[in-house]
Amino acid sequence: MKKNDWNFATKVIHAGGEADKETGAIMPPIYQTSTYVQSSPGKHKGYEYTRSHNPTRSRLEENLAALENAKYALVSASGLSMIDLIMHSLPTGSNILCGDDVYGGTYRLFTTVFNKQHNYTFLDTTDLKSVEKHLKTKPELIWLETPTNPLLKISDIVAISKLAKKYKVKVVVDNTFMSPYFQNPLDLGADVVMHSMTKFINGHSDVVGGCMMTNNKSFYDKVWTLQNSIGPSQSPFDSWLVLRGIKTLAIRMEAHQKNAMKVAKFLETHSKVERVVYPGLKSHPQHRIAKKQMHGFGGMITFFLKGDIKKSKKFLEKVKLFALAESLGGVESLIEHPAIMTHASVPKDVRESIGLYDNLIRLSVGIEHVDDLIADLEKAFSFV
Ligand SMILES: *Cc1c(COP(=O)(O)O)cnc(C)c1O
Repeated sequence: MKKNDWNFATKVIHAGGEADKETGAIMPPIYQTSTYVQSSPGKHKGYEYTRSHNPTRSRLEENLAALENAKYALVSASGLSMIDLIMHSLPTGSNILCGDDVYGGTYRLFTTVFNKQHNYTFLDTTDLKSVEKHLKTKPELIWLETPTNPLLKISDIVAISKLAKKYKVKVVVDNTFMSPYFQNPLDLGADVVMHSMTKFINGHSDVVGGCMMTNNKSFYDKVWTLQNSIGPSQSPFDSWLVLRGIKTLAIRMEAHQKNAMKVAKFLETHSKVERVVYPGLKSHPQHRIAKKQMHGFGGMITFFLKGDIKKSKKFLEKVKLFALAESLGGVESLIEHPAIMTHASVPKDVRESIGLYDNLIRLSVGIEHVDDLIADLEKAFSFV
C-alpha cells in the first residue's frame, strides 16, 4: 500500500516514520547538529547546514505533506514566520485581500510590518459577492482564515478558489483551527495551506512552530530559498517534539470535537449566555458550508456572556480547570478574552465593527472529561 493511500490515522504515525537505517531505532533520531561533514568540498549527503536542511525536520515535512495530500511541505520556527515568508515571496507593491477577522498576530504583521511593502484590503470573506468584486481587481493573493479567530466565521473554500482561478489570484488558507484532520484546503482548490503547528498539530503546548504545504514546486522553492536567506528555521528538537505530538492528532481531534459539541450545547441553553458560536451547532450562520467542506467541527467555541467587561473578567478569574491563557489546540482546556488578550493589537473600533465585543469569550476545549469541564464553567457562571 502506498503512503498516499493510507488513512489519516495511519499517516500521522507512519508517514516520514521509517525506522532509523543505522540502528533500527523506531523513533527518529534528533539530529541536534548545526553542520555536516563533507568528503570533498561541495560533496555531501544532501545536508550542509541546519538552517537549510535537517534530517529530523525533513521527516516532519514528509509527514505534514502526507496529511494535507500535498507534494511539498516546509516547516518554520513559528506560524507567523511562515506567514512572513509567504508575504516576502510576493512582488513589492502586491495587492492582497485578507479576511476581516484573522488571527491578531496576522493582522499586526500585515498592518504594521508589511504595510510598507504591500497593499492590504480587509473584507468579509463569507460574502461571496464582495469577494468576487474584489477579485476582479486582480490582486496577487487572497488570504483566508476559515474558521476565523475568534468569531469562527466560515468561508466557502471551493467557491472562492473557483473565482480566484478565474481571475488568476493565488489562494492561501490558514488552516490552524481545523488542523489537517478536519479540513484539507488543497483538496478544495486552494494553492497553499499553512498552519501554526503551535496549536492542534503539536497539541501539547510545548512547541512554537509553523508550516505550509503546496503542490506548486516553484512556490515551494521560492519560500524555501527565503527561509534559508532570512533564517526562521525550526530547531531539530522542536521538530522532533512535533513529530511526537502529531502521532495522536486523529484521536485528539475526535476527542476535542466530542467535548466541544457537548460544551457548546451546554452553553447554548445557559441563561447567562447571550449567544454561542460553534460550527457544529445548527444556529451557526455557515453551518451548511461547515458540513460541506470540513470533516468535523473542531474544538474551538466562542460565546457572548450576558453583561459587561466586568462580568467577563470575573468569569475568567473564576474558572479553574480552563486555564486563562493565550494559544489553543493543546490537550488542556484554555479560556481567553480576545479583546484584552490575543486581539489587543486590533483597534477597538475595528474589533467592534466585526462583532468582537468585550463580552466575547473564547474556549479551546481540551480532552479532559467533559463533565469536569462543564462543572467548571457552571461554577464560574454562579459568580456572574
Ligand atoms: C497562533 C496562530 C497563528 C500564529 O502562529 P504562531 O505559531 O503563534 O506564530 C496564525 N494563525 C492562527 C489562526 C493562529 O491561531
